[in-house]
Amino acid sequence: MSEVIMETKGLTRRFGGLTAVDNVDMVMKQGELVGLIGPNGAGKSTFFNCLTGFYPPSEGEVKFMGKPITGIKPYQVAKLGIGRTFQNLRIMPNMTVFDNVSIGAIGSLSHSMRRAIWPFRCKTDQKISTRTWEILSRVGLDSLAGELAANLSYGKRKYLEIARALATDPKLLILDEPAAGLNEQETGQLAEFISELNKEGLPILLVEHDMGLVMGICHRVMVLALGKKIADDTPTAVQQDTAVLEAYLGG
Ligand code: ADP
Ligand code: MG
Repeated sequence: MSEVIMETKGLTRRFGGLTAVDNVDMVMKQGELVGLIGPNGAGKSTFFNCLTGFYPPSEGEVKFMGKPITGIKPYQVAKLGIGRTFQNLRIMPNMTVFDNVSIGAIGSLSHSMRRAIWPFRCKTDQKISTRTWEILSRVGLDSLAGELAANLSYGKRKYLEIARALATDPKLLILDEPAAGLNEQETGQLAEFISELNKEGLPILLVEHDMGLVMGICHRVMVLALGKKIADDTPTAVQQDTAVLEAYLGG
């Protein structure tokens, strides 16, 4: 049995002369809620994009559930069970809330189910619909299912983005700055929601610029600065780490 769900070794990504992610080793275990923080430009999104197939790494290795996944395509990463959200929201504004989520649910069906979509259309539709409603009520958007996504408040759109990722039935969820643009109260609610999801057994990697959110809920926090991992410890230890404080103050 493999306790480790995701692992990187020497992960490096360069853009021309700039090393955005520099030789980063990471281990994430089943059930963990891990924070990845760092000042703007630290390389968090680039690291994340290397994990999820959006950027092939320049060097190093990514493993998911014991298998190397370095350099595979984003849709393959999604199919393996890594759900993600984007720092800049990617929901479809002219589709309803329901349809935005059901697209994710379609992807979660097995290959044979999707092949069967034609002859057994009703059955499949029902499965997708049930799953979509489940998730919508989980994130508190069921009463807005028929609304166009564009009409949702910014805070609600953030939940829609998470709902879309959840609809794919991920084995690991990676969130890129989910609290960006939210006020303090909304951030608190989101923190609670993320924590609940994790307590139900979903491993989560939470990428955040804001230290406050991660410190309250994460089991462990990794810190990137100028592409390098400068700390990887409990929230308490990380908050007292001089290199971390310097990176943030000097940011
Ligand atoms: P963070 O998410 O921590 O704010 P990023 O990963 O977005 O940091 O960026 C890390 C560094 O890599 C920054 O200096 C940024 O300008 C650079 N960078 C990110 N993406 C690209 C890209 N596609 N092309 C060139 N440089 C990039
Ligand atoms: Mg970023």
